[in-house]
Amino acid sequence: MKISDETIDRVKSARSIVFFTGAGISAESGIPVFRGKDGLWSKLKPEELANFDALLKNPKMVWEWYEHRKYIMKESKPNSAHLAISEFQNYFPEVTVATQNIDNLHRRAGSKTVYELHGNIERNYCINCHTFYNNDVPFVDGIPKCKCGGLIRPDVVWFGEFLPQDQFNASEKASEDCDVFFIIGTSAVVYPAASLIYTAKAGKAYLIEINIESTEASHIVDESYFGKAGEVLPAILEKIKN
Ligand code: NAD
Repeated sequence: MKISDETIDRVKSARSIVFFTGAGISAESGIPVFRGKDGLWSKLKPEELANFDALLKNPKMVWEWYEHRKYIMKESKPNSAHLAISEFQNYFPEVTVATQNIDNLHRRAGSKTVYELHGNIERNYCINCHTFYNNDVPFVDGIPKCKCGGLIRPDVVWFGEFLPQDQFNASEKASEDCDVFFIIGTSAVVYPAASLIYTAKAGKAYLIEINIESTEASHIVDESYFGKAGEVLPAILEKIKN
């Protein structure tokens, strides 16, 4: 993959870099994406399972799907894209990850400033008393039940729900102030997360997209690299180091 001189110059001279990531960055770790080529969307409808009403109506079915997703995410490992982002921390004073992913792979790769816009699948909480649970949730007849009797749900943002305000505000601030803003493996259609792209654009940032195909963001970015995140990011990092 040819990396342009402009990318190298912009990144090398940056003080603050934001990596805005989506499901595509974890595809090479074996976690299916929702949209795009090979997206899960065509096989089943995540919006029918990833919502609060579905949990109330059919907690067993929703939890079966989440147990399956939890298992895949737990078994997967950070790939060369997550690891490259973590390595950027050795060369730049401010490196921020604002991720739509719930798989915890950025933290497991060693990234320190990670804002989780859509929660984290490794956490769960009771919808009644708000007690938090890790992955050892107590099941009663296939349904996770808190000691207070309330239903337990994964601590992720479902369709129609608000984003964790602290995580979104911190991501917005970082996007406003950064010099380079990477958009990686996201279809850029899920709002309000995707609005960070426009926040960065309105600031002083140079926008670089990495995706296997063009997206809703492609027309406003400064440069697009069409390739796998696990190949393009290490290639950029290598140029920076030389
Ligand atoms: P998306 O599924 O809508 O889009 C994935 C994007 O990644 C597509 O544009 C696709 O072309 C691109 N892509 C696929 N493989 C790639 C690769 N190897 N390198 C670079 N790009 C690649 O994902 P989204 O925009 O993040 O929105 C989906 C929502 O679903 C998110 O909010 C997220 O919370 C959730 N989700 C999370 C995970 C996860 O945590 N790993 C997985 C699936 C869905």
